[in-house]
Amino acid sequence: MTADGGSVLHPMARLPEEWEEVAVELGERAFRGRQVFKWVQGRGITDPAAMTDLPQAFRERLADPRLSMPLSVSEVRRARDGTRKLVCELALGGKIECVLIPMSDDPDDDPEDEEGAWDGRVTLCVSTQIGCAMGCVFCASGQAGLERGLKAEEIVAQVLTARGRLAPGEHLRNLVFMGMGEPLHHYDETARAIRLLTHPEGIGMSPRRITVSTVGLVPGIRRLGDDFAGKVGLALSLHAPNDEVRNGIVPMNRRYPVRDVLEAVRAYPLPKRRRVTIEYILIAGVNDAPSHAKELARALRGLRVKVNLIPMNPISAAKMGSPEAARVEAFKEMLARDGYSVFVRKQRGDDVDAACGQLVLRERLERKGKAGCSEGSS
Ligand code: SAH
Repeated sequence: MTADGGSVLHPMARLPEEWEEVAVELGERAFRGRQVFKWVQGRGITDPAAMTDLPQAFRERLADPRLSMPLSVSEVRRARDGTRKLVCELALGGKIECVLIPMSDDPDDDPEDEEGAWDGRVTLCVSTQIGCAMGCVFCASGQAGLERGLKAEEIVAQVLTARGRLAPGEHLRNLVFMGMGEPLHHYDETARAIRLLTHPEGIGMSPRRITVSTVGLVPGIRRLGDDFAGKVGLALSLHAPNDEVRNGIVPMNRRYPVRDVLEAVRAYPLPKRRRVTIEYILIAGVNDAPSHAKELARALRGLRVKVNLIPMNPISAAKMGSPEAARVEAFKEMLARDGYSVFVRKQRGDDVDAACGQLVLRERLERKGKAGCSEGSS
């Protein structure tokens, strides 16, 4: 820990303007700072010695132990379906993970792209917190509780690191904030990470290729919409059509009930032809009845949404599970008949626990003396 408790902006979290100021402070002209930003954020290079277009003296003055990747990959797990999960050790302490998902056989993930041969597109799913404070009963992170939020540089470092590990022919197409944690809980860090990642002098990701997934923190949804003019994709983890069911599985619903959350979705300033994704985990006997499908269709009427149904992945902390395939299909059909775009999400990478933060959490729970994720064992 630094003496300032880490409150000073980390070099990896500096925007070009902030690098300009640093360059001037170090006795250089401002544009030299922007060059550093390009090295760091565009190419993932943090060693000043490798920044070959900078004057030697400036490179020496740039040397700062904090100008280094705030995480390193400790383990890579490759699933049969090509999904790779990167387990990362954070320099500040703690472990997180991010997951690279080739989009080969899953046109559902981006319905605006037509099906076709795989062209190397990969989606990266990043974590925003170690654990999570939201407490959703079906979620391993929620059950583990919050250890801390990630800093912007730790979010960005997942992207730069994962991007550096793509195979030849692969390219990072989409970025989803759907790993461990609630991205709108520590809004400022998430927003800064998005600014860094979308800056044209960095890796310049298009905001429309980024999706932030939230449990429904209404003020955060508003800020995200305002700060990025609706260009950043939004996914809402709704999981229930009414307050009664949602209160039982998503504790945050007591603070921001279904009506308010859907109102925030309605007000999100989406560009034309874009839709908000509604995520709905299907849990047997909890939210999967035909009456729930009907109620959901009614609740979503008039909203520009598509619905992703996710059969629940079992976790040890909850005696809940996915409905039978036929029931999932029936739920889907009811929404489809009402005119919704609805997709059933296949589990990707579950043979490496890539589904929802399970590997790291399993280790944490085991350390705490609790049983790990059971994956079907009783
Ligand atoms: N906090 C944010 C982002 C992290 S959770 C949010 O709530 O959206 C992102 C997604 O993880 C959830 O929407 C859900 O789709 C998935 N998820 C969590 N636990 C799951 C489980 N047990 N089975 C299947 N998906 C799960």
